[in-house]
Amino acid sequence: MSVIYDRVALIGLGLIASSLFWAIKRGGLVGEVTGYARSAETRDTARRIGLCDRVCDSMADAVDGADLVILAVPVGVMGAVAAEIAPALKPGATVTDVGSVKRDVIDTVAPHLPDTVHFVPGHPLAGTEHSGPESGFAELFDDRWCLLVPPDGTDPAAIARLRALWEGVGSNVEEMDADHHDLVLAVTSHAPHLIAYTMVGVADDLRRVTDSEVIKYSAAGFRDFTRIAASDPTMWRDVFLTNKDATLEILGRFTEELFALQRAIRTGDGAHLHDYFTRTRAIRRGIIEAGQDTDAPDFGRVKKPS
Ligand code: NAP
Repeated sequence: MSVIYDRVALIGLGLIASSLFWAIKRGGLVGEVTGYARSAETRDTARRIGLCDRVCDSMADAVDGADLVILAVPVGVMGAVAAEIAPALKPGATVTDVGSVKRDVIDTVAPHLPDTVHFVPGHPLAGTEHSGPESGFAELFDDRWCLLVPPDGTDPAAIARLRALWEGVGSNVEEMDADHHDLVLAVTSHAPHLIAYTMVGVADDLRRVTDSEVIKYSAAGFRDFTRIAASDPTMWRDVFLTNKDATLEILGRFTEELFALQRAIRTGDGAHLHDYFTRTRAIRRGIIEAGQDTDAPDFGRVKKPS
């Protein structure tokens, strides 16, 4: 594959940025990748593991001369980061981000950027519950979606180039309106995370009366919630604070459905429960058919020989 950008700067060196770096290297997509993270500890780790061609000690140094700047920090600090890098941006450069919420990122980042740069916000729909510079891997974006949400009037050439980079790291790319993105993600990611956090929190309270049975018998379903509920607290705090309206809308609907199921259980309405679970099972099949998860039982977990 040919080089898409001569120089790319990664701001933030966690799970997403490190995965991007390894995937960019795998594809030979960029001439030089510079990187910056807030703490000296993360920058030292990055240097030790060879994450980035050059790790810089300031954001300005990292973005100096970059054709593409990728903001890979928690959503809540995107605006402050944009303000800091703005004076150092090269005219004609593209700024993008990987934040899980899009309207808030556009509202907080765009006002800081000079007219001489293109702003093409993005969101890779790929991740794990791990974080930090050592958690990344080149395959993270393979066959996953990356949504680009360019504001009206964005230069089509800048969008096409960024699309080529995401396709080069293995993603399928689609463009979407920011508000629509935030609603879709509230359904598919944000509300499920909140529900998982709640379920694990409830179980943790119960654990005190059941003497560790919740942990011992977690394979019955609970452990799948715990994986999601182990996700980074800073990232998820910011997601809920910045995608407030869409998340509350979906949680309202969720609560109504929960009450309906609660009522069906109380009144012994087995038909309602059966119909509901039949419908949800079909959704799982659709995800597998779309190649977005494994068909293997129990998510393909390897069983130890007994
Ligand atoms: P992460 O592993 O926790 O890494 C975050 C990085 O941001 C770290 O390098 C951190 O530096 C840096 N950082 C934090 N605050 C900063 C600040 N004030 N100024 C400069 N740098 C700062 O996070 P991640 O999972 O890669 O997530 C990054 C972004 O991707 C988030 O916006 C998230 O919403 C989005 N995203 C995440 C996932 C996922 O599943 N994790 C999926 C899609 C999109 P230090 O290490 O020095 O603190």
